[in-house]
Amino acid sequence: MSKKAVVLIVDDTRLNIQTMAHILKNEYIIKIAHNGTRAVELATQDPTPDLILLDVEMPDVNGYDVCRLLREDSETANIPIIFVTGKDSIEEEGYGLSLGAVDYITKPIHPSIVKARVKTHVTLKRQYDLLKEIAVHDQLTGLYNRHYLSDVLASKVAHAMRHDDPLSIIIIDIDHFKSINDTYGHIVGDEVLREIGGLIRQKARQEDIAARFGGEEFILVLDSCTLEDAKIKAEGLRKEIEKYYPQGLDVTASFGVIQFHQGIESVTHLLDLADQALYKAKKEGRNRVIVSLK
Ligand code: GH3
Ligand code: MG
Ligand code: MG
Ligand code: MG
Repeated sequence: MSKKAVVLIVDDTRLNIQTMAHILKNEYIIKIAHNGTRAVELATQDPTPDLILLDVEMPDVNGYDVCRLLREDSETANIPIIFVTGKDSIEEEGYGLSLGAVDYITKPIHPSIVKARVKTHVTLKRQYDLLKEIAVHDQLTGLYNRHYLSDVLASKVAHAMRHDDPLSIIIIDIDHFKSINDTYGHIVGDEVLREIGGLIRQKARQEDIAARFGGEEFILVLDSCTLEDAKIKAEGLRKEIEKYYPQGLDVTASFGVIQFHQGIESVTHLLDLADQALYKAKKEGRNRVIVSLK
C-alpha cells in the first residue's frame, strides 16, 4: 500500500497529457499513451495502472472503444476508468458512464477536481485489491486458502480434461500434530503451522499453487508436472520438513501424490484419490510419500 499508485493518462493531444501529468506527477507514477491501441497495451504491462484517465476523441481507436475492450478482459476489467473529455453534454456523460467508467471529467480541467477524483478512485481500487488479497489467503500461514484452491482446482481440472498438459497435486498432512498442541499448546502449534507453511511456499516453484487446505493439511497444485516429477518433489519436501525442526520440534509429514488422468471425474474425485494415498502413507508408518496409481 505504501507504494505509489500508477495512473495511465491517455490522450492524443500532447498538451493535455502534459497538463494532467503535471498535476499528478508528485503523487503517482505516470504512464502515458498517445492513442487507444497503446492504452490497451499498457493496461496489462507492469506496472499495471490503478486508474486510467481516458480521452474520448482520438483517431483510430477512440476512448469508448478502449473502455469497452478493457471491460471485456478479466485482467483489466477492474481498473477504474475516468473519461476526460471536451464532450460535455449530459447524453455523452451518461453514455460514458454506461460503458463502465467510474467518473467523467470535462475539459477544460481544473487541477483540484482532477486530483480529488483521481484520489477517490485510486483509494477505492486499492481497498478492493487489498480485500481481494485477504479473501484468497489463509490468515495464519499467508498461503492461499481452501476457497481459492477450490476455484483454481476447478479451472485447472477443466483445462486438464481438454488438454494433455499433465496436472499433479500433492496433499501434505503433518504427523501427530494433535500431540504438538496437547504438549506445547495451541500457540506453539500455530507457529509450527506457520513455519511449515512458509517452508512449503519457499520450496515450491513460483507458478505452483500452495494452499492451506484445512487444519494441518496443505495442498500443492503443480501445473505441467508429471506424476514422476511430483513424487520427486514430494520426497524432497518430506526430507526438508524432517530436518526443519520448527519451534525446535521434531516434526514430520505424510504425503499423497496424484496426477490427473481421464478416469478422474471431478475435483472431489481427484482430492479423494489423493486423500486415499495420504491415508495409506499414514497407515504404513507416516513420514513418507505414497503415489496414487488409481
Ligand atoms: P495424523 O498423524 O494421523 O495426521 O495425526 P494428527 O494428530 O496430525 O491428526 P488429527 O486429525 O488427529 O489432529 C489434527 C489436529 O490439528 C487437531 C486440531 O486441533 C489441530 N489443528 C487444526 N487446525 C489448527 C490450527 O489452526 N492451529 C492449531 N494450533 N491446531 C490446529
Ligand atoms: Mg483527443
Ligand atoms: Mg489431518
Ligand atoms: Mg495430521
